[in-house]
Amino acid sequence: MIYADNAATTKMSQAALNKMVSVANETYGNPSSLYTFGQKAKEALEEARADVAKVIGAEPKEILFTSGGSEADNQAIISAALLGKKAGKTHIISTAFEHHAVLHTLKKLEKEGFEVTLLDVHENGLVTPEEVEAAIKENTCLVTIMFANNEIGTIQPIREIGAVCRKKNVLFHTDAVQAVGHLPINVVNDNIDMLSASAHKFHGPKGVGFLYFKKGIRLSNLIEGGAQEKGKRAGTENVPGIAAMAEALKESAAKIEENTAKLTEKRDKLIKGLKEIEHSALNGDAVKRLPGNVNFCFEGIEGESLLLLLDDKGIAASSGSACTSGSLDPSHVLLAIGRVHDVAHGSLRLSIGEDITDEDVEYIIKSVKEVVTYLRGFSPVWRDLVAGKTQFILP
Ligand SMILES: *Cc1c(COP(=O)(O)O)cnc(C)c1O
Repeated sequence: MIYADNAATTKMSQAALNKMVSVANETYGNPSSLYTFGQKAKEALEEARADVAKVIGAEPKEILFTSGGSEADNQAIISAALLGKKAGKTHIISTAFEHHAVLHTLKKLEKEGFEVTLLDVHENGLVTPEEVEAAIKENTCLVTIMFANNEIGTIQPIREIGAVCRKKNVLFHTDAVQAVGHLPINVVNDNIDMLSASAHKFHGPKGVGFLYFKKGIRLSNLIEGGAQEKGKRAGTENVPGIAAMAEALKESAAKIEENTAKLTEKRDKLIKGLKEIEHSALNGDAVKRLPGNVNFCFEGIEGESLLLLLDDKGIAASSGSACTSGSLDPSHVLLAIGRVHDVAHGSLRLSIGEDITDEDVEYIIKSVKEVVTYLRGFSPVWRDLVAGKTQFILP
């Protein structure tokens, strides 16, 4: 079996798993308790906070632990919106191809009277700092743009966008769930005010993540109750999960260079192999993309069938994102970069992990070629294209 869906979630690393078990076993006190059991748990929590902060160049007090990427996105955007509203600023800028945790939060704010500008994304899956600057108005309170896209893997010019926001005195949040642990990040150098991350995307456990918020930014109380996380998020902390997240992040961060070199080589082999399929196209910039991301459209086929047949061959991949698969709407990300409906339907995302081998790469290429040919064999859409009744869109 080849697991090529690491953008959906990753396997926990052995070190993270060991940490989770040992903390659950031995450090099970409540961090809010004053006796030694509690204080040991509190220490584990604060050690994790310091570790996480260090990896992204932040201070420990700038880290809020959350239940994952979605919560961090919600918390960042809603806090910035409320701060903006107090200052009479109710305009927010984002892009059309954000994760739904961002887009749906913005939809909710729109209903509450905020104005949202969603920037168009170029065909290469990028927005430019100039476009962000041009969209900023007097009453803009927040720019939220993802670091790397979860479907097509494109990496935005975050540092430059952050610089524009600094210049214009607008808060800048980035959903960096696909980037943390995979790309070098320093929130200070990269001009980031708020950043979301999720442990299960970098070999940590599911259900835990964090929000970096630059000191001075007043977050809202997301959950009312006790004084945990400075009252911003009440409830007894997920100490084993948080400790395991920190462990996974330290490990991933230490291996970024090595993993990038390895994954980039395998990714480019996959891209080269899949390009041999006629009437296909890579989605997103070939270079400014995550080392492990490959995303293709194949004309005349249907992504879901492709996935199921690849699964039969022992390959776990994705079409669109896990959140949209199961619905018949094509991916909003592929539509945002200008793919038409019919083409967007025939998409395949392979997000490879560090343990992939050359044999795996060869096997994936061979299998995708076989399955695409097989599916086109009885596709009425393909028949019409070949007969010249309809025009090919992809070369
Ligand atoms: C996975 C993902 C999320 C959601 O993270 P969860 O921890 O699953 O809530 C948000 N944004 C991006 C870009 C993602 O890839």
